[in-house]
Amino acid sequence: KNTILLQNRPTGTPELSDFKFTSEEVPELRDGQMLLETKYVSVDPYLRGRMNDTKSYVPPFELHKPITSAIVAEVKESKNDKFSKGDYVSGMLAWKREQVSDGKGLHKVDPDQAPLSAYLGILGMTGMTAYFGLTDIGKPKKGETLLVSGAAGAVGSVVGQIGKIMGLRVVGIAGSDEKIEMIKSEFGFDEGINYKTTSDMKKAVGAACPDGVDVYFDNVGGEISDAVLFHINKFARMVICGAISVYNETSLPKGLSVQPFLIKNSALMQGFIVGNYAERFPEAMQKLSGWLKEGKLNYEETIVEGFENIPQAFLDLFSVKNKGKMVVKV
Ligand code: NDP
Repeated sequence: KNTILLQNRPTGTPELSDFKFTSEEVPELRDGQMLLETKYVSVDPYLRGRMNDTKSYVPPFELHKPITSAIVAEVKESKNDKFSKGDYVSGMLAWKREQVSDGKGLHKVDPDQAPLSAYLGILGMTGMTAYFGLTDIGKPKKGETLLVSGAAGAVGSVVGQIGKIMGLRVVGIAGSDEKIEMIKSEFGFDEGINYKTTSDMKKAVGAACPDGVDVYFDNVGGEISDAVLFHINKFARMVICGAISVYNETSLPKGLSVQPFLIKNSALMQGFIVGNYAERFPEAMQKLSGWLKEGKLNYEETIVEGFENIPQAFLDLFSVKNKGKMVVKV
C-alpha cells in the first residue's frame, strides 16, 4: 500500500478507521514534472480541522482522496528544469510513498545545512509560526514578560527561545513536571507552570508572572487561556496561534467573555495564519538558521519510523505522545 486516504470525517477525536491505506499507480513523467520519493512527513494538529467539512483558511480534505501535509522528499527523476535528480524538496505533498509533481509550491532544502526533518520543524512551518506570531503580533520589548501555552510543543518551545533571544522574561505552561524541567534547562524558560497538577491556574499564572503578562502566545485556548486574561497588562498583546484543547470538541465550550479584559487593559488579541507571511519566509529562514548555527536555538523532535505509522503518529498528537515536533520518517 502506497497511499493514505481520508476515509471518514471524524466526529470528536479521530481514529485509525478514519484513514484508509490503498495502492495507487504512479503516472509516467511528462515534461516539467518530477518523481518524488517521500522521506519525512509532518503531522500537525491543524490537520484535524481540515478533516471537517467546514469552511476555514484552507479547504477541507476531500473524502477518499489522499491527505496532504508538509513533506520532505527526494527527487528520483526529473523532467523539470528547476530540480535535479538527488535534490531534496519540501512543500505540501500527498501522503504517498512516491508521487509526481510539477514543482509548484516546492522549494529545495539542503541536508548539509540541517537534518532533513528540521525543515518540517524549526526551519519549517513550526519555526515560521513562532517567529512571525511573536515578532509581528506580539511585538515584544526587552524586559517584558512573555507567557507561552503549549510551551513544550513544537511551536511553543521555539517561541520561548526567541523570546529569550529578544531579552524577555519567559514563562511556559506545559502538562508535566518533566516538560517544565525541559523548557527551563533545554530551552531557557525562566519559569514554568504544570497545568495538570495546578489546582488554581489563575493563582499560578499570577505567581509565575508577578509583573503581569505583556505578551501571551496561545497554542491551546480553553480554560488555560481564560486564567491568563486575569493577568494581562495594559497594552498586552495576545497572539492567538492555536487552540488544541478544543480541536476535538463537538460543540465549542463556553469560555470567559474576553471583551471586558481587552477594554480594561487596552489589549490586543489577534489570530493569525502562518501562510499570511509566505512572502517573508526567507527573512525568518535566515534568522532561524542563523540562531541555530550560533547555538542559540535548541529543538526536540519525536521521529516515528514507517509510512504505515503516519495516521497513528497524527492521532498521538492529541494524547500528546510527542515531545517537540512530531515527524514520520518513511
Ligand atoms: P504540538 O503538538 O507539538 O504541541 C502542542 C502542545 O500543546 C503539546 O506540547 C501539548 O503538551 C499541549 N497540549 C495538547 N493538548 C492540550 C490540551 N488539551 N490542553 C493544554 N495543552 C495541550 O503542536 P505544534 O506546536 O505544532 O502546534 C501548537 C499549536 O499551534 C496548535 O494549536 C496548532 O494548531 C497551532 N499552529 C498554528 C499555526 C498558525 O498558522 N496559526 C501554524 C502551526 C501550528 P502538554 O499538554 O503535555 O503540555
